[in-house]
Amino acid sequence: MEKKKVILLRYGEIFLKGKNRNLFEKRLIENIKKSLSGIDYKFIRTLNRYYIEDFDENLQAEIIDRVTKVFGLHSLSVVLKVPTSYQNLMDATAEYMPVSGSFRISTKRADKSLDKNSMQISAMLGGYLLSKNDRLRVDLYNPNREIFVDIRENGYSYVFSDKIECAQGMPVGTAGRGMLLLSGGFDSPVAGYRMARRGMQIFAVHYHSYPHTSELAQQKVIDIAGKLTAYCGDIKLFIVKFTDIQQAIHEFCREDYMITIMRRIMVEIAEKLAKTHKCGALITGESLAQVASQTTKSITVTNEAVKDLPVFRPLIGMDKYEIMDTAEKIDTYRISELPYEDCCTVFLPKNPVIKPDLEIAKKEQQKIKNLEKMIEDAIESVEEKVIETAF
Ligand code: ATP
Ligand code: MG
Repeated sequence: MEKKKVILLRYGEIFLKGKNRNLFEKRLIENIKKSLSGIDYKFIRTLNRYYIEDFDENLQAEIIDRVTKVFGLHSLSVVLKVPTSYQNLMDATAEYMPVSGSFRISTKRADKSLDKNSMQISAMLGGYLLSKNDRLRVDLYNPNREIFVDIRENGYSYVFSDKIECAQGMPVGTAGRGMLLLSGGFDSPVAGYRMARRGMQIFAVHYHSYPHTSELAQQKVIDIAGKLTAYCGDIKLFIVKFTDIQQAIHEFCREDYMITIMRRIMVEIAEKLAKTHKCGALITGESLAQVASQTTKSITVTNEAVKDLPVFRPLIGMDKYEIMDTAEKIDTYRISELPYEDCCTVFLPKNPVIKPDLEIAKKEQQKIKNLEKMIEDAIESVEEKVIETAF
């Protein structure tokens, strides 16, 4: 039998996108191909599925690992592709035969030149398996294993049993660009992942207070961004030196308002960078009530420092445990738990205000001498790094 293993990719929600479907598909295909760079294979596009063919079977697990992270794909299956003939279908189905227990065969027949319909083909193939193994039985309603037989019009049939879930969501790049405020903590990487899953291309900004914070803290953020690239594709990371501004906040402002003011300046800088790089939104890892700076009141006062862009906070209603689960899944957890601290922990006040007042915050912020100039300098001296997709 001339047979080969191919990987069938199914796409999900973008199916619904009517007129835009072409654009979405184009981006999805680009992202799939990008995720497979460095691997030889053939990409085949049919009406509503894709096939990856002619790859080295030793790389099958690697291919699956990579494409399951591409947003916009729904599921995949490793399938046997055979030229359509009853004999070939019997042989291919037998390869998925369980050792014992119940099974069913589900046939879809697009090729109408065959003399049996799909029910008859299922019955024939089921009968064949039963004749080969007397420990099997057919159960149409609740089988231990379902074997799918997809008979296409192109003279080929595809036989498979398992479906592997992919990352779902929308292809990265179909929902514009977002500027993620990326710390070294657990939350912000997860926030970036969630927005990329809705199709945003992620840019990131990180604030450090070197030499009060160690260089390891910066490396930590670079490594976290590297992990995110498996899902988000390449990420442009902006590293902002926040030392002078933080020192000035410390020098001029009321201690209990220091964090509030720091946050306001962070989002102001982030918005400026976002606009320069054509990002349509800011993204943060805030989650309601997690810490003092994440009360409704604190968020209101921080938000006021953003002029035009929306601030997306995809974790706002998530529990810490849910966030941690996702961090584990996307493999940022073990980096985030490293102890190197980012700028937020420098000059930390003992009792940060829980319900800051906007007018007080503004007044305190105005006490900082030359703040506009310091913000300009920080933006001018920003360090830009492209974090390329790591395999
Ligand atoms: P995370 O786990 O993301 O650090 P957190 O629970 O520590 O979040 P905060 O320290 O209050 O919360 O920070 C809230 C959000 O502000 C973060 O999720 C992140 O988006 C942004 N942020 C905090 N520190 C930095 C930083 N040093 N650089 C860039 N963004 C930051
Ligand atoms: Mg943090």
